[in-house]
Amino acid sequence: TLSDRLTSALQSLRGKGKLTDADIDATAREIRIALLEADVALPVVREFIAQIKQRAKGAEVSGALNPAQQVIKIVNEELIGILGGETRRLTLAKNPPTVIMLAGLQGSGKTTLAGKLAMWLKKQGHAPLLVACDLQRPNAVTQLQVVGERAGVPTFAPEPGNGVGDPVDVARRGIDEAKHAQHDIVIVDTAGRLGVDEELMRQAADIRDAVRPDETLFVVDAMIGQDAVATAEAFRDGVGFSGVVLTKLDGDARGGAALSVRQVTGRPILFASNGEKLEDFDTFHPDRMASRILGMGDLLTLIEQAEQAFDAEQAEKAAAKLGTGQLTLEDFLQQMLAIRKMGPIGNLLGMLPGAGQMKDQLAQVDDTQLDRLQAIIRGMTPAERDDPKIINGSRRQRIALGSGVTVREVNDLVNRFFEARKMMQQMAGRFGFGGGGGSKS
Ligand code: GDP
Ligand code: MG
Repeated sequence: TLSDRLTSALQSLRGKGKLTDADIDATAREIRIALLEADVALPVVREFIAQIKQRAKGAEVSGALNPAQQVIKIVNEELIGILGGETRRLTLAKNPPTVIMLAGLQGSGKTTLAGKLAMWLKKQGHAPLLVACDLQRPNAVTQLQVVGERAGVPTFAPEPGNGVGDPVDVARRGIDEAKHAQHDIVIVDTAGRLGVDEELMRQAADIRDAVRPDETLFVVDAMIGQDAVATAEAFRDGVGFSGVVLTKLDGDARGGAALSVRQVTGRPILFASNGEKLEDFDTFHPDRMASRILGMGDLLTLIEQAEQAFDAEQAEKAAAKLGTGQLTLEDFLQQMLAIRKMGPIGNLLGMLPGAGQMKDQLAQVDDTQLDRLQAIIRGMTPAERDDPKIINGSRRQRIALGSGVTVREVNDLVNRFFEARKMMQQMAGRFGFGGGGGSKS
């Protein structure tokens, strides 16, 4: 993997006080190979590497990092920057309904995404309507109705028995229906072909003109790698799009498509799909994608840690616990309270040992969610906090009832906690926290 190769390449840089041009060139070569292996398109790689070299050559040598770490940090930062920096949100229309149109090749995951997006929006209090404009494939309408049902969202479809029907007409009537039934968001599913073709583009463009979408999302399968660039360009020119959704990230694709599409089209990536279930979906996180493309999340974590000053004593105590996997929900609660006291979450994550790995979990937590999480943990008995494994179904129900949340939220918290604990334990083992004990599980 890149992580291994870079680690050895960078070994030679270790211990040097300053980066020489030769050091940077050698490192750049390795990163170049890694990006190509991750299926990033060649022109994009070239541009990226040139940028890296330039920045690395001008870089000050930092006190906290050795030169090798510094190069990785630069690479990572540049990558995150290209991938979009912060997560970009959906644009909602001032006058509802907001119209979101999905476009992409057949099999890219549009219909599945329609259901995922609908469920995600519904959870946030929206009332979406799905509109079935793929009248090409025999089962496409039924497929959308099925995912709609699963998401608990209605689907507008042409009446059966009326022949094939005109997708543009269905789209238009779908919007009318949404206004009529007071849906604030309309998700328009469209047909896709296996390859880019003109008829498909024209149909998509006609639908676009009929519904005037607030967002047109280009849905692209991360597994198609290099082909993503040509496909994205074709859709950009044929239909145009305001954002990108990357699907099938649960596969082994390293995500080079993300970097290529972003760089070539200049359009932000809004969402990522990572599985067939409706829950397998999230907003796109450039930082996660960057470490996936580089394949060196661990190194990045180490670098973050090296840069962060934290209370050594407290960290040591917590680390000893982490190393043995004994972190409890009570600790979790205490950490959460500490975070709250200290201000904006982003600044503070770094204070927790293993924070780099926890960040994904915690980044999803805002203050009101923190209140709820706190309420849930407070609703547990000390024994449950101490050993969350005992929290079975009936206990979950009791806790949910007592803390005024749904059982689902309790499940989420418990699952997230286990996940975080596992990750921290792995980290602790790998990086030798925990008083030499490592992971003992
Ligand atoms: P469409 O032709 O663009 O509408 O694509 P579909 O939504 O019908 O998806 C095509 C296939 O890919 C289906 O079998 C989906 O279950 C599957 N699929 C969609 N998104 C994902 C994903 O994120 N991960 C995985 N593993 N499968 C996906
Ligand atoms: Mg479809």
